[in-house]
Amino acid sequence: MKDRYGREINYLRISVTDRCNLRCRYCMPEHGIRPVDHKDILSFDEIGRVAAICAGLGIKNIKITGGEPLVRKDTAYLIRKLKEISGIRKVTMTTNGLLMEKYISELIEAGLDGVNISLDTLKEVRYMELTGSAGAEKVLKAIMLCTERGLATKVNMVPVAGFNDDEVGQLAALAKNLDVDVRFIEMMPVGQGRLFQGCSGSDVLKRLEAIFGQAHAEKSHENHRKDSGSGPARYYRFDGFRGRIGFIDALSRPFCSQCNRVRLTSEGFLRPCLQFETGENLKELMRAGCSDKQLEKAVQKCVFGKPSGHCFNSFSKDAEKTGFMSKIGG
Ligand code: SAM
Ligand code: SF4
Repeated sequence: MKDRYGREINYLRISVTDRCNLRCRYCMPEHGIRPVDHKDILSFDEIGRVAAICAGLGIKNIKITGGEPLVRKDTAYLIRKLKEISGIRKVTMTTNGLLMEKYISELIEAGLDGVNISLDTLKEVRYMELTGSAGAEKVLKAIMLCTERGLATKVNMVPVAGFNDDEVGQLAALAKNLDVDVRFIEMMPVGQGRLFQGCSGSDVLKRLEAIFGQAHAEKSHENHRKDSGSGPARYYRFDGFRGRIGFIDALSRPFCSQCNRVRLTSEGFLRPCLQFETGENLKELMRAGCSDKQLEKAVQKCVFGKPSGHCFNSFSKDAEKTGFMSKIGG
């Protein structure tokens, strides 16, 4: 499925819940957000229906996200269902990792192809300060467990200037010792993220080279070799490392011209771009009894209306305007 700028749209991010067991300060307000009523969240059948329509239009990879996807009951069941859809090649998940140990067996049995685990600090006190809960050690264990169980694993860190950016070396070293890719994500001015100053990928790379020596850039065709979701990361290798180091530089090196994704929110709204609130209300359509053809048309309309790119740098400071990242799914 191509959008009007000729971009191939083959990747769907599905947020299965707006709820989360953490309160990362750059993602959710401290007091949380008013949770959406259960009846207003798409059922697994509705998600499956949208996914099947999207697969028929060329979506090949799906990322399950949230909120925290593992706080929704039976996420593994949904993954199994999505894997059964003809045309879907990979179903992966992004998680804060806290419930990974509990669910890893059923997720693997369901056919999960890979996992991105978010970990911004290895220091327990700092983790508590950032997320409102203890868990750094637990998440680290979850990362090790995922690699032991053979799940393709990536670690995502969002460096915050003056808060955890002194740990980029320690986080990167996970890719030295474990078979994981570690990716550094630039803070995006979405929701609470507007209130924080991130670090540019090139700044982080410089710091890593000062510690680990020269990094070797992977050629772009190798970038998706091990990738579980056709993402926008640029990858590098350091000598002696088992895994790769990636950078998702949405601000300093926008990748909009290669963007291949649309996002389904937990409330059933299909968004063509992280920044804009435009899109199609698929839940309303489905609950009004639309046909598959009508649903397909709505998906095509959304893709056709995909903006050429974000304009993060001209954003206002009003965090509530475009919605919180936990609601959109990152
Ligand atoms: N709860 C899961 C997790 O933390 O991985 C999935 C949802 S979370 C919204 C997905 C990713 O978005 C996480 O890696 C998180 O660090 C990242 N994220 C949240 N707010 C962000 C922001 N303003 N800029 C950049 N990344 C952000
Ligand atoms: Fe929850 Fe993930 Fe947002 Fe943290 S980043 S508050 S874990 S949704």
